[in-house]
Amino acid sequence: MVNEHKLEVRKFTSMADGTDAVLHIHEIVGGAGDGPTVGISGAIHGDENTGPQIIRALWPILTQTPFKGRIKLLPVANPRAFAANNRFTPVDQLNLNRQFPGDPHGCYTDQLAAAIAGEFLEKIDIHFDLHSGTDRPTVDYVYIMNAENLSRAFGSRVLYRPKENVGGTTFSGTTKSVTVDKRGIPAVVVELGGGILDQAPYVRRGVDGVINMLKAARVFDGDPAPPPPQIVVRGIEGVRPKQGGWLETEAPALGEEIAGEAVLGRVVSPFTFETLEVIRNPVEKGIMILSHLSRNLVEPGDYGYMVGDLAEAET
Ligand SMILES: [Zn+2]
Repeated sequence: MVNEHKLEVRKFTSMADGTDAVLHIHEIVGGAGDGPTVGISGAIHGDENTGPQIIRALWPILTQTPFKGRIKLLPVANPRAFAANNRFTPVDQLNLNRQFPGDPHGCYTDQLAAAIAGEFLEKIDIHFDLHSGTDRPTVDYVYIMNAENLSRAFGSRVLYRPKENVGGTTFSGTTKSVTVDKRGIPAVVVELGGGILDQAPYVRRGVDGVINMLKAARVFDGDPAPPPPQIVVRGIEGVRPKQGGWLETEAPALGEEIAGEAVLGRVVSPFTFETLEVIRNPVEKGIMILSHLSRNLVEPGDYGYMVGDLAEAET
C-alpha cells in the first residue's frame, strides 16, 4: 500500500536573483485511523546534513507503512544555508535556530523562521528535530526537552537534560500565539552523525530511532525496542581549540567515558609539523558526546570536543 501524500511548496519571499524562497513540506496521511500530526525537520543548521539524509531514508517507509495520523516532513529547513554548507544563513549570517518565532517583516532568516512557525510548527502535535555534526565533527546524543519517553525511545546511549533552554529555538521560540514549549507539544531534538565518514550507519540509526519514537508515540504499530543502558547528563563542556591546524584525536569513542586530564586531541601544524596545542578532558569524570573521528583541519575556536559531565548525571 502507498499512503496518500502531497508535497507543499510554500513561497514566503522573493530573492534578489529572481528566484522564490520556498519551503518544501511533505504531508503523509497514515491511513490507519486518527492520530497526532508528527513533524520531522532537518538542516535547521545548513551544514548538518545527516538529518536530511535520515528523512530521505524514512520517506519510502513512511509512505508505504500504514500508521495513525499524519506526518509532515521538512527535510531542509534552511535551504540557502544547506546549499552553501553553512551553519548560518548566507544572506544575513543569522542562526535560524535563534530567530524563532521569526518576523514576516524582518530580515531573511526572520522571514524563514516565521514561515516555518506558521506552516510547520503550528500545524504539528509532536516535533522531532534532527541535528548532526558537520562535515568535520561527529556527535551522538539526544536532548530531553519535555518528552523523556520519546527521547529515550530514539535509542542513543547519552541523553542531555539542559538546566535551561536557550531562546529562539524551534522549541522555545514563541510562535504567533503560543510557544511550542507552552503549547506542550512533545518535542525531541536529536544530535547524530557528521564527520568525514560514511554517514550510512548514522542514517540507519536515525531511521530506526525515528521509527522507534513513532512506536512509542503510538503512531506506528508495535512496541518500541527497549533502549540500551542510558545516561542523562545535566552539563556539557565544550572544548574549542585555541590554535588552528590538524586536529588529531586521541579521545575514546563517542559514548565512552573519559577521566581526569586525559588527552582529547592535539592540534598539529600542517606546515611545521609541531604540536601547537594539547587539548585535555575538562571534567573529572566525563562521557564523550562530540569528537573529531578523522584528522580534521580546524580554525581557532571551531567545535573541538563536547564532554558530558558525569558528576551530576542520572542513569
Ligand atoms: Zn544543529
